[in-house]
Amino acid sequence: MTQAHDSVAVRRRNLGLVLRHVAEHGPCARTEIAVATGLSHASVTTMVADLTARGLVSEDGVLLSGGRGRPRRLLRMIPRRASTIAVQISSEQLRVAVADLAGTIVWRDTAPHNGVAGVPPSMADAIADAVRRAETAAPPDAELVRVAVAMAGPVGDDEAQTVLAAPDFGWLRPVRLRALIAARLSEVTCPIDVINDANAATLAEYHAHPRRPRGVVYIAAGTGIGGGVVLDGRIHTGSHGIAGEPGHMPVAIDGPACFCGARGCLVGYAGPDAVLTAAGFDDVLRRDGLGRAADLLVEALDRGDERALEAVDIAGRAVGTAILSITSLLDIDEVILGGVLAQWFPWLYPVIQHQFSGRRALVPAAEPDVTPALLGADAALLGVIEFARRAALSDPATVPRRHLPAP
Ligand SMILES: [Zn+2]
Repeated sequence: MTQAHDSVAVRRRNLGLVLRHVAEHGPCARTEIAVATGLSHASVTTMVADLTARGLVSEDGVLLSGGRGRPRRLLRMIPRRASTIAVQISSEQLRVAVADLAGTIVWRDTAPHNGVAGVPPSMADAIADAVRRAETAAPPDAELVRVAVAMAGPVGDDEAQTVLAAPDFGWLRPVRLRALIAARLSEVTCPIDVINDANAATLAEYHAHPRRPRGVVYIAAGTGIGGGVVLDGRIHTGSHGIAGEPGHMPVAIDGPACFCGARGCLVGYAGPDAVLTAAGFDDVLRRDGLGRAADLLVEALDRGDERALEAVDIAGRAVGTAILSITSLLDIDEVILGGVLAQWFPWLYPVIQHQFSGRRALVPAAEPDVTPALLGADAALLGVIEFARRAALSDPATVPRRHLPAP
């Protein structure tokens, strides 16, 4: 890379540093930004002039610093200047939202879609239609800076963001979903990203958490068991893009055979199918679906039904074992249980705590908090919005200048 390229890249990165700081900590003064980012005061001034020319930042009055020194001019981000579009597609429905740079949703919609299982181009059609509807609903004076799509399948960390497989959609081979979407949206000039929906949900739960833990592992049961890992505020995708999938973590070396080819996988003990079958609700699950069967299990637990309690005891021990393995390796301080695991949390939690009890002597302070997810079915969509927002803040140069920066 040439020096000129380097300096362009450095400038873009620094623009992002300054905008992110103003977004998270504004209104704030240039001096504070320089201290927090490590950039020189002159550099911060240049970046602020550039961001102002792009309409992303404005001066927001003056703070007098107690009679001494010069008055400080405070800077504030203008969230309405740009918008992002977030899409979450499952086999049943599609959620779509338009948000501003503060992550505030300005329009949203949830609807069934016409995507056909096993036919990736038809899913791309459905996603492209949703993006077009969202564009129509977006504020006309806001620049569209990011489109992000979350879906149920591991997404590779290659440049193409290949969906490696999506059994829910009947995709058993890798699909270049991003390219399929982009080909249908030639009028969209901003970057388009495809991410895993459970990773998105993890990011949203991390953000919603009152304590802002350093490391979060999310374990959610829906059709199977999915999840994600967020370390220091970023989704950890791993070497192949498939980190944070706890469903097929072995929790017993001689456990039952799993369809994945291994034995003793977590999903075989704590997956909805396993728990509801053990509790005697497999017929309801097949006939009326997961929501109804999961509710009936709660009713059975409430009235102290032995079989239901036994099923959840097994699930709790399996989840506890998985958490011990995960935290031994990663020193995670927060584990969030989502989907039906959040619904069954009051019964799972004491079993998980009991599982930890033998470990307390080893490193007493290192035990993770285990909490139920806060966001419910909206988690993935909120996570895609947050993902898109962060990507947009990190690269403000995608917003065109409205005028030349003041010297
Ligand atoms: Zn398995």
